[in-house]
Amino acid sequence: MKLTDTHCHLDYYKFDEDRAAVLQRASDAGLIRLLVPGLQHKSSKAAVELAQSRAEIYAAVGFHPTDLDEFSEKTFAKIKTLAARPKVVAVGEIGLDYYWVKEEAKREFQREALKRQLDFAKEINKPVVIHMREENDAWFGACSQDLLDILQEWQSGLSGALREKPGVLHSFNGTLESAQKALTLNFYIGVTGPITYKNAVQKREIIAQLPLERLLIETDSPFLAPVPQRGKRNEPAYVVHIADKIAEIHAKNLAEIAEITAANARQLFAWGD
Ligand SMILES: [Zn+2]
Repeated sequence: MKLTDTHCHLDYYKFDEDRAAVLQRASDAGLIRLLVPGLQHKSSKAAVELAQSRAEIYAAVGFHPTDLDEFSEKTFAKIKTLAARPKVVAVGEIGLDYYWVKEEAKREFQREALKRQLDFAKEINKPVVIHMREENDAWFGACSQDLLDILQEWQSGLSGALREKPGVLHSFNGTLESAQKALTLNFYIGVTGPITYKNAVQKREIIAQLPLERLLIETDSPFLAPVPQRGKRNEPAYVVHIADKIAEIHAKNLAEIAEITAANARQLFAWGD
């Protein structure tokens, strides 16, 4: 069985002690592709270096909405340079975060930084990895609305393959309506550990209504560990528990889900077999 983890922060300090062992377990668990997204210049650079060090690792580069303190012409130029390096398959993670950022001026800055990075993705013809977190972790609100408006405007200006596969809403935590809206814009939906949590009934109902050919599986390591590892440090090998839960929800077997989500990721990130 071949699995993918389309969102793991392997550069994070929590893996400094045992990164090689973590990668070995990922490989033993059947992971053939791992995407490490950047959060700002430093982690984008680390993601690119990780991609150079291991065949199965690919990178995304960009500024996360809660990491915009150092966003400037100079640092953005560095991200653009990194984006041209081998195995950089996306711009991300970029997006909006109204959970941690409450000041309107700072939210406006997030929207500007997002739009500039979306324009850059269009320029280099690469998909985007989108982060979205609503105020108070609500299912819907200003953050979802602003994000979907911005993505709609951007996507309508795309052409060719990028218009068909513009990106992924990573660790999706919104309503069915938001997911459906994203699907009309041809986005993929990233599914993470919280769908395995006991009380996540509604989340599972939403996933049940989304087409399998638009789902990606991701751990968001070291965060959001799935059951039965909940509460521990997450790592790519645990992506199997997410695939397993999707299999249960969609009445398929694990191997089918692994295969479908690997194919989805291959289509979006164009990283070959
Ligand atoms: Zn992330």
